[in-house]
Amino acid sequence: MTEGRESAALPSDRLERFARHIVLPEIGGAGQVALASARIALVGLGGIGSPVLQYLAAAGIGSLTLIDDDSVDASNLQRQTIFAVADIGRPKVEAAGEWVARFDPAIVTDAVARRIDRDNAATALDGHDLVLDGCDNFATRLAVSDACVSLAIPLVSAAVGRFQGQVGAFSGNLSDQPCYRCFVGDAFDAEDCDSCAEDGMLGAMAGWTGAFAALAAIRVLLAPLGGLGDPQFGKLHVLDGLAPGLRSLRIARDPACKGCGN
Ligand SMILES: [Zn+2]
Repeated sequence: MTEGRESAALPSDRLERFARHIVLPEIGGAGQVALASARIALVGLGGIGSPVLQYLAAAGIGSLTLIDDDSVDASNLQRQTIFAVADIGRPKVEAAGEWVARFDPAIVTDAVARRIDRDNAATALDGHDLVLDGCDNFATRLAVSDACVSLAIPLVSAAVGRFQGQVGAFSGNLSDQPCYRCFVGDAFDAEDCDSCAEDGMLGAMAGWTGAFAALAAIRVLLAPLGGLGDPQFGKLHVLDGLAPGLRSLRIARDPACKGCGN
């Protein structure tokens, strides 16, 4: 299994574009082919979704489904780095799709300009290899998590507020693994639960958290090849920007969980 043979599936312009990945033994040609074959759904194109989109597109993910029901607001530009002044008022999925087309026309994108809820989550997320959720409300997060469990799709969930970020990978369909609902519980199913609008957020925290979430997604996608090791399902990473540092904790599976329990 030589690197040359494994990367032969990539055309020469792609070999050049991803040379810094392919030279890494942890990724190599086979890893780059795996990334190019992957289809990821991004839920939320905000402060987390922006760097996630930038780094997943830059990583050569073959197909991206962009999901957001919101339009670009002037107050988004402090942290939502894919948007510019000219995008204010436009649907985020439209501006984000144009960003991808400009950045790398080889990436296939789909746009879903709807809020994900309990009724439409399974339909919107079916067929993806991974879902990355960086949305701004718990009702959507829980609907996304439950759909990922039932569809057996790995989920990377990322959140940020003020000076703290959280990133976790979940595979709640596996009998020994917690799901996102095991972590947060059922109290947040209501639509009007929370938002970052009141709390505020340092823009660079969204960048750090989003880039960390993109790394977690790549880790999950490459796990079958073994290059980056354990996908770290069920582990939550807490990013502290005020006293800069990182701590990680394991989330317990809740046997009574409505999402993944019996
Ligand atoms: Zn659960």
